[in-house]
Amino acid sequence: MTGRIKDNLKEVLEKINIAATNSGRSTNSVQLVVVTKKQSVQNIFEVIAAGANVLGENYPEETHSKANELIDLNQNYVWHMIGHLQSRKIKYILEHFSMIHSIDGGEIARELGSELAEVGTTLPALFEVNISGEESKHGFASWEEKNWPELVDQFLQIQAASPALTFKGLMTMPPFSENGEDSRPYFVRCRKLLEFYQKRSGDNSFCQLSMGTSLDYEVAITEGATCVRIGEAIMGKRIY
Ligand SMILES: *Cc1c(COP(=O)(O)O)cnc(C)c1O
Repeated sequence: MTGRIKDNLKEVLEKINIAATNSGRSTNSVQLVVVTKKQSVQNIFEVIAAGANVLGENYPEETHSKANELIDLNQNYVWHMIGHLQSRKIKYILEHFSMIHSIDGGEIARELGSELAEVGTTLPALFEVNISGEESKHGFASWEEKNWPELVDQFLQIQAASPALTFKGLMTMPPFSENGEDSRPYFVRCRKLLEFYQKRSGDNSFCQLSMGTSLDYEVAITEGATCVRIGEAIMGKRIY
């Protein structure tokens, strides 16, 4: 071990602390998900040893093979699914994941919800929203505020149809930019959508905002993120 990942983790945690404090929030109101997709098992081993306990993954099959290699690790950690889910991968969600951030359609919610119900378990979940209108993005269309009433009603219907998924809030991914400030308007819009949901539904326990990555997590925290998903700033470059 070179200690690089440990140092990166420490630095990121400090920056999270500063961003939270500067916006009048407590550090533990922000959860860190360390994104480990396309990272070696050795690197994952290192970050767990350094104290990371929530790991984010995009490809359930990849997680499945890594989990087999990490099986003897005497450490507590959980996996969160943050990527687009295909129905045929649902079995891996049940096997390995403790939360899903990326429910991006009614059909996948129904399928996952019914499989969870079948085995008698529940899973915390977030609705992934496409807040920018970029065509390449997954997530519920939510860039036009005039459509929000309908969208929230759709969310409520999905929840009612799949009680095994316990929906806690929203996840979003703004358009790529090297400059974190460029993400701010999208984070603001996502927070507004969360507030709109709370008002319309009367449900204030729907309160999580998963937003912010390596390039913009400090901005996300100042705009209300309760969860940041950080990969390369901690783990180094991914190998594709
Ligand atoms: C890969 C990924 C991240 C992490 O991105 P970094 O730039 O490595 O911090 C966060 N969220 C999602 C949905 C991702 O796919």
